[in-house]
Amino acid sequence: MRFDVITLFPEMFSAIKSEGVVARGIKKSLLSINTWQLRDFSNNKYKNVDDKPYGGGAGMVMQVKPIRDCINKIKQKKPKTKVIYLSPQGKKLTHKLAKELSELDSITLLCGRYEGVDERIIEHDVDMEVSIGDYVISGGELASMVLIDAVSRQIPGVLGNTDSLNDSFANNLLDYPHYTRPDTIDNQKVPEVLLSGHQANIDSWRSEQSIIKTREKRKDLLQK
Ligand code: SAM
Repeated sequence: MRFDVITLFPEMFSAIKSEGVVARGIKKSLLSINTWQLRDFSNNKYKNVDDKPYGGGAGMVMQVKPIRDCINKIKQKKPKTKVIYLSPQGKKLTHKLAKELSELDSITLLCGRYEGVDERIIEHDVDMEVSIGDYVISGGELASMVLIDAVSRQIPGVLGNTDSLNDSFANNLLDYPHYTRPDTIDNQKVPEVLLSGHQANIDSWRSEQSIIKTREKRKDLLQK
């Protein structure tokens, strides 16, 4: 999987490129993240890529030309790339969507800033808008990193073979509770069954706990 990211802040992506699961996927050559500095596509000497909104009002708007030129440049290498604009107005990022996106070969992520991008980019150049939740953050970079991480976990080989099978939401259930050493701390004990060594009993306890947790915290998932 190749991610191309269009951003005014490419340095922000050094965090996921160098640490954790995404970095491991890069090392194993299962994915790559290529950042594009949008200012490199500006045609003025101040490297501006934004301007005042028509109709007046607060904030600035990201202009069509630099974004379109950058997308077209990426498309020279990856003509079929799926262009996603991170936006609070987009389709909600879920486990299901992350899994679907993980099957693609190339994704281009457009990170907005200010009031966002000129609407003509959304109409003409963007295939899909994706939101990380019903709130507004200051730029698309953090949202892109959330998407990259969630999608990368679903790419075969990035995690161990079975590591994500019991992740919350994978089966419309929340994950079961986890414990580690020591088996007792401040009078709090690890459930006996986990120390029994009886794998069938452990598996069935975990399945049951998964359902109990889902019922307690996210009843809506059980209805699915
Ligand atoms: N004026 C826009 C609105 O209210 O719909 C919000 C602009 S926001 C300050 C700047 C950028 O942050 C957006 O263009 C988008 O790329 C990103 N962004 C903000 N909230 C987001 C969310 N919930 N999901 C994905 N991206 C988001």
